[in-house]
Amino acid sequence: MSNYETYEYDVLVIGAGGAGLRAAIEASAAAVKVGLVCKSLLGKAHTVMAEGGMAASLGNVDDRDNWKVHFSDTMRGGQYVNNWRMAELHAKEAPARVHELEAWGAVFDRTKDGKILQRNFGGHKYPRLAHVGDRTGLEMIRTLQDHGIHQGISVHMEYTIVTLLKDGERVVGAFGYDRERGRFKIFHAKAVVIATGGLGRAYKITSNSWEGTGDGVVLAYRAGAELLDMEFVQFHPTGMIWPPSVQGLLVTESVRGEGGVLRNKDGKRFMYDDIPENYKSQTSTDPEEGWRYTQNDKNAKRPPELLTRDHVARCIMREVKAGRGSPHGGVFLDIAWIKEKLPNAAEHIKKKLPSMYHQFMQLANLDITKEPMEVGPTTHYAMGGIRVNGDTQMSNVPGLFAAGECAAGLHGANRLGGNSLSDLLVFGKRAGEFAAKFAKENSVGKINDAEIEDAERHALEPFERGAKSGGSADGPYQVQHELQNLMQELVGIVRREDEMVRALDGLGKLSERAGQIAVYGHREYNPGWHTAIDLKNLLTVSEAITRAAIERKESRGGHFREDFQGKDAVFGKVNIILKKNPDGTMNVRREPIPEMPAELKQVIEEMK
Ligand SMILES: Cc1cc2nc3c(=O)[nH]c(=O)nc-3n(C[C@H](O)[C@H](O)[C@H](O)COP(=O)(O)OP(=O)(O)OC[C@H]3O[C@@H](n4cnc5c(N)ncnc54)[C@H](O)[C@@H]3O)c2cc1C
Repeated sequence: MSNYETYEYDVLVIGAGGAGLRAAIEASAAAVKVGLVCKSLLGKAHTVMAEGGMAASLGNVDDRDNWKVHFSDTMRGGQYVNNWRMAELHAKEAPARVHELEAWGAVFDRTKDGKILQRNFGGHKYPRLAHVGDRTGLEMIRTLQDHGIHQGISVHMEYTIVTLLKDGERVVGAFGYDRERGRFKIFHAKAVVIATGGLGRAYKITSNSWEGTGDGVVLAYRAGAELLDMEFVQFHPTGMIWPPSVQGLLVTESVRGEGGVLRNKDGKRFMYDDIPENYKSQTSTDPEEGWRYTQNDKNAKRPPELLTRDHVARCIMREVKAGRGSPHGGVFLDIAWIKEKLPNAAEHIKKKLPSMYHQFMQLANLDITKEPMEVGPTTHYAMGGIRVNGDTQMSNVPGLFAAGECAAGLHGANRLGGNSLSDLLVFGKRAGEFAAKFAKENSVGKINDAEIEDAERHALEPFERGAKSGGSADGPYQVQHELQNLMQELVGIVRREDEMVRALDGLGKLSERAGQIAVYGHREYNPGWHTAIDLKNLLTVSEAITRAAIERKESRGGHFREDFQGKDAVFGKVNIILKKNPDGTMNVRREPIPEMPAELKQVIEEMK
């Protein structure tokens, strides 16, 4: 075996966000040896940024809520191309996972009688998001970390995995380097869980942290895993748009959940102009009723600002395109108006939305208790990703599991806010459980030295080019910048075949350039090198999004085609699957969605 330092584990978890931590805890509880690798410091994973809360039908604020309503909301939000088995498990198991987190010490906001408080969010029929102010992700990570470190998990912080290792069909570990010193390491494991989060960094405007470069999706794809519905990218309707340095930073949906309204430059609440047919029966037509809903009046219907994210984002784009936008190309989000309703509005806003208050005060010099915010859509979440078995979270590659944002299926064409944090808990746990089971049932596989030498050579090539070029070659940042602009312009919120075909051509040229980029200096503390490695992943996920988006010739959820504006029943019955061909090209195919069992169909019927 290659003479790099080698760590031996039963289960290796790649990623220390909510999904990775929860998986590691569960695997460790099954008494197997667990290693956890992450790119950043422990506690800094993207999950820490989550604000609004985690969705679970606890029924604490509205006792009409239950798993059936949550299941049906998730399927409706995902426009029925979801993996219905995952939606069922998620709805059924989320309450237990939230209570478990509470038992492990998580602090939540409380109802007057001491139960976990739940707030309204888009597409959820009842107040369902367990939260602590607008810092829920931080509390989730803190709790999971505190719990996890007592489980004997070995943590490798600031490591990047560059390839998975295989023995025949099966995954047997991973190869990576420590980001500080640039030294290569081998992780030999019986089972691997990928929990590497999102891919928003493929776009210019995004709410995602620097880690969101789609690494896990590409690691799995290169190892032979199938990808599912990569075309479904969520553009969150409300990101900051001003000043330019903070463009894309998220403005949580909780602002609208707490009564915030969207207005165009003429002061009009434009969301009332377009309420989709399948939400009409649940949406108020009267602003007064909408306000009562946000104050938890059980007899009121939701305001249209709390329709699903895909729809709200498109309504904002419509206003901007029609010349009714705000000065910097967005619209206004106003929570300050609630002073007309609440005597202590400023204090209330600061208590309910402390991060938002500070974010705007410090970054835009704007007091949200007094003035409206300027907001516009931002690339936020990948509904598509690694295809997994709904029960076990194993991919089609034996020994390779995935959970969290990098895995696909639960959210269909559009994720409801709050359904990610509960997804991390429910499917993180399942991935850990079944990875541990796999590890117990299988012996250690053999590591292939040639794979390691190949990965090492690829990782170091940019240095060789740097040494030869004498400073004249492109660096990774130029190519990354052009890639993000290309995806933003040609495969963004509104898509067209001719533009996406141009995007594919552009991606091909950028890939060629990426193969020629140079990195200077040495391997210690070299961010240019890290970017060169991430870039390859960004290029592959961009190609996957584009090819799948060309294939889906309809508009559904986060995927809007200007040239096919309606939903098409044919596409409502299929998923788009991508797989690497033996010659390295990307295979695209449609696959029928398995028939939903009668009892789940019945649930959806009942909840209509
Ligand atoms: C601002 C913001 C607010 C949000 N608010 C909410 C909310 O209120 N409710 C909700 O449900 N969802 C929310 N979301 C979405 C949610 O936060 C994410 O979908 C979720 O946190 C993803 O968690 P994860 O565990 O899958 O991955 P992440 O938390 O992204 O963690 C990924 C981990 O993988 C590691 N990693 C990545 N690549 C590699 C590699 N090559 N090698 C080694 N390690 C690697 C990273 O270092 C990191 O540790 C929000 C998102 C944003 C951006």
